[in-house]
Order: sequence, then C-alpha cells, then structure tokens
Amino acid sequence: MSVPYLLNSPSGHIPASQRIPIIAQPWVSDRAKKTLDLVERFVEEECIPADAVFAQQVGQGTVARFDSHPQVIEDLKTKAKKLGLWNMFLPKNHFKEGAGFSNLEYGLMAEYLGKSVTASEATNCAAPDTGNMEVFAKYGTEEQKKKWLVPLLNGEIRSAFLMTEPQVASSDATNIELDMKKDGDYWVLNGQKWWSSGAGDRRCKIYIVMGKSDPNNSNPYKQQSVILVPADTPGITINRMLSVIGFDDAPHGHGHLTFNNVRVHKSNMVLGEGRGFEVVQGRLGPGRIHHAMRSVGAAERALEYFIARLHDPAKKPFGKQLYEHGIQLERVAKSRIEIDSARLAVLNAAIKIDQSNAKDALKEIAEVKIQVPKTLLDVLDRAIQAYGGAGVSQDTPLANMWASGRTMRIVDGPDEVHMLQLGRNENKRGPNLLKRIEAQKAKTRELFKSYGLQEKDVLELKRVSGGQSKL
Ligand SMILES: Cc1cc2nc3c(=O)[nH]c(=O)nc-3n(C[C@H](O)[C@H](O)[C@H](O)COP(=O)(O)OP(=O)(O)OC[C@H]3O[C@@H](n4cnc5c(N)ncnc54)[C@H](O)[C@@H]3O)c2cc1C
Repeated sequence: MSVPYLLNSPSGHIPASQRIPIIAQPWVSDRAKKTLDLVERFVEEECIPADAVFAQQVGQGTVARFDSHPQVIEDLKTKAKKLGLWNMFLPKNHFKEGAGFSNLEYGLMAEYLGKSVTASEATNCAAPDTGNMEVFAKYGTEEQKKKWLVPLLNGEIRSAFLMTEPQVASSDATNIELDMKKDGDYWVLNGQKWWSSGAGDRRCKIYIVMGKSDPNNSNPYKQQSVILVPADTPGITINRMLSVIGFDDAPHGHGHLTFNNVRVHKSNMVLGEGRGFEVVQGRLGPGRIHHAMRSVGAAERALEYFIARLHDPAKKPFGKQLYEHGIQLERVAKSRIEIDSARLAVLNAAIKIDQSNAKDALKEIAEVKIQVPKTLLDVLDRAIQAYGGAGVSQDTPLANMWASGRTMRIVDGPDEVHMLQLGRNENKRGPNLLKRIEAQKAKTRELFKSYGLQEKDVLELKRVSGGQSKL
C-alpha cells in the first residue's frame, strides 16, 4: 500500500519507472529506472514538504535573506547523497565526473526535480551550477578543475555565470562589452553585469564572466573571452538583487554587479583568449533542455493542483463540484495532451544529444526551448483560474511557479531568437520544395497524357449565362 504522498492514479501509486513513455524505454537502463523511482520518492516525500520550511528559513529582510543558508537544504543534501541521488545531470558519454546517466535518463529524473523548489539543489543538480560545472568539466584546466569543479561537485560552494549586461541587448552576445584589458600577467575588468543568478548566495565563490577582450577583431565572434573571477576578488560590488515578478528567489537570487578594476590572473582564462563564444555555446546546449525537463515536472505539479481543486468538497460553485462543470474537464484534457507532447519533445531532444551531441540537436533543443515554457504557462494559467483568488495568492505554489515559468521564455535566449533560428532553417528548404512541387505537377501532366486524358479542373462547371432558368 502506497504512502499517501505518492498516490498518483485511481488505483494508488504507479512508480515513475513504469510511466516512462514507450518511445523512450529502449534507452533507459535498469539502474536508471531504480534511480528514477528513488528520485520520485525523494521529491514527493522529502523535498515538496520541505519547500515551505526552506522559504521560512530564508527569513525576512533583503540583507538577511541573501545571507541565509537554510538548514533544511543541507539536511536534504545529506539524505540525497545517502540515496546516491547526486550529480545525475553530468551525461556519461561526455564526462566521467557525474553519476553515469545519459541525458535521456537524467531528463526523466529532472522532471521530478522540477516539481519542487528545493529538489534540484538538494541533489546538486541546480542551475546555474549544472551548466557551470559542465564548463569546468569540458574546458577547465586540471588546476581550474581542482580549485572549482571539485567543490562544486561536492556541493560545498555555488557559482554564477555572468554574461548579461544592463546597457546592451544581451540576447545577442556580440553586444557584451564588459571591458577586459591586459596588464602584464593580469586581466583588468571594468563594467556591469546583471541577472547574475546565484550571485546573492554567500556560498557563491566563483563567477564565470564573459567580457570583451579584443574589441577591434574583425570577427565579431572572436572579440569576447570568458574568464574565471573568484567572488572575493577586490573591486566587485553586488549593488542590488533583482526581483522576478515580485519574488526575490533568495538566497541565490539574481544580482546586479559592478566590476571596478577587478584584476584576475591570466591563468583564469577559460579555453583561450577570444574563445568566449565557444564556451557560451558549449554551456547552453544541454542546460536548455534541463530547464525544459524541469518545466515538464512543474506543469505536472500544476495539473495535480488543478485536478485536486476540482475535487475540493468545500468549493462547489453553482451547486456542483468543479469537475462537473464540463469546461474544467476540457481544460484538464488539454493540459494532459500538451504536457505529454512536451515531454516527448524533450525526451526526443535528449535522445538526439545522447546519440550525437548538442550541436547536432540544435533544432530539437530550440523546439523544446519554445514549446515547453508555453505548455507550462498554459497549464499553470488553467490551474490558477480553477483556484480563483487563492490561485494568485501565496496559498498555493502556483503563483510562484508562474513567475518562475514566465522567465523561461526569456532566459538562455528569448523565444524570438529560437523562433528565428528554426524559421530560417526551415525556410532554407524553400527553393527545393518549389522545384519538387513543379516536378510533381509535370509528372502529373505526363500521366494524364499517357492515360489519354485531358487535364481539367476537379470542380469544372462551365455554366454559361443566358441559359433557361428552372426557377
Ligand atoms: C530569472 C532570470 C535569470 C537569468 N539568469 C542569468 C544568468 O545567470 N546569467 C546571465 O548572464 N543572464 C541571465 N539572465 C538573463 C537572460 O539570459 C537575458 O535576459 C536574455 O538573454 C535576454 O537578454 P536581455 O534581457 O538583454 O534582452 P534583450 O536582448 O534586450 O531582448 C529583449 C527582447 O527583444 C526581443 N528580441 C531579441 N532578439 C530578437 C530577435 N532576433 N527578433 C525579434 N525580437 C527579438 C525579444 O522579445 C526579447 O525578449 C537571466 C534572466 C532572468 C529573467
């Protein structure tokens, strides 16, 4: 008999491993299935109930909230480590440091992590650390790995990725202009960064910073570099934290920082001078689908809240349970269809990455980057609507989830950039499609001829004016 917090079907609990979409099943190992079931239990039994405790332990007041280090998250980390639920995100075919799962297997797990505020950090699978650890694992020197990757993998420190700047349109990374000048063995950094996620947390010890090191390079993709900046380097000020539709996301948050003559040794350069674009692009591939995978889980949670509300015996508008009002069931059905489609698209992208790499899966990644946040927001909107006033208040997690879900249409490149890329690529088929259609028409004409037929319009009428009317 299932414990109540795992109930998920009319008959009780169907474990996550038994709900893997058929299309993905051939690529999921038995070990991953076991871990997936553990992740499900851990999230439903431990993390979701702990979310509200975490929120309260963060405390009150801006300074205190960003100085806080909720004990509950450390306790969850200890439990997760004991269960072997740690660093599942580092894909096995690219890195030796992770837990040894594929992107697909992690995708199935990340869906559950996305249902809770604390689950990702509790299992050391939280953004932006995940993408940053991939940068270290992929491009870091042995020295850089020892200093930063090891404590990140152990969950001892946190990190931030500083690309976006307030004064330029940062969705086009060629605009990034934080000034980087060489001075002997050092680089000197001056400028501003904002939306530096994670920078608010006192445990955030390392920034991965993109700046302009060669403004006169004729190739705009060679002007930027990425360099490691320890958070305690003199000259850095975190001016303020930014809110996300009113939520401060403390203690990690999103910082607005100033760099004033910040000196870092040249050995902190990642991959090499002028290779910032490579680093940024290498970081964003799998990271984008991590967001999408978690968003599928968030959408599932929203649907769970939605359906639960339809059954709340205290809420019977016009004398009926909400599920007896047909429009609500139609919304449930739509949500089910959209979530299931979104999941398949994400798993498809993950399989494609596993079979080759993120570069070959650009189309699939762009598709889910656009599709999944829309699904999440649509499902959340229906759930919020079913709760009436409570839906937009702090009494359900839905409002917070909506605020965070809304950012998914902006972070890691706004929808439009991915739409444009997809549209452009699809459009390249235009000239050939024109030729193909013309060739098919020519063949049709030949066929008519060979059958001795005259080609005529399927709705040919040939009615002539002036004939006798029968009316
Ligand atoms: C919660 C949150 C967390 C974030 N975390 C980080 C982080 O950790 N590190 C980091 O560096 N950044 C982070 N960001 C920043 C994020 O990546 C940028 O906001 C995003 O890339 C867009 O850049 P921008 O804000 O400068 O907007 P802009 O580049 O000015 O774009 C604004 C709008 O212009 C439109 N637009 C842009 N390009 C096109 C186009 N080609 N066609 C049509 N319209 C277009 C879009 O509507 C777009 O939303 C975060 C943002 C949020 C909200």
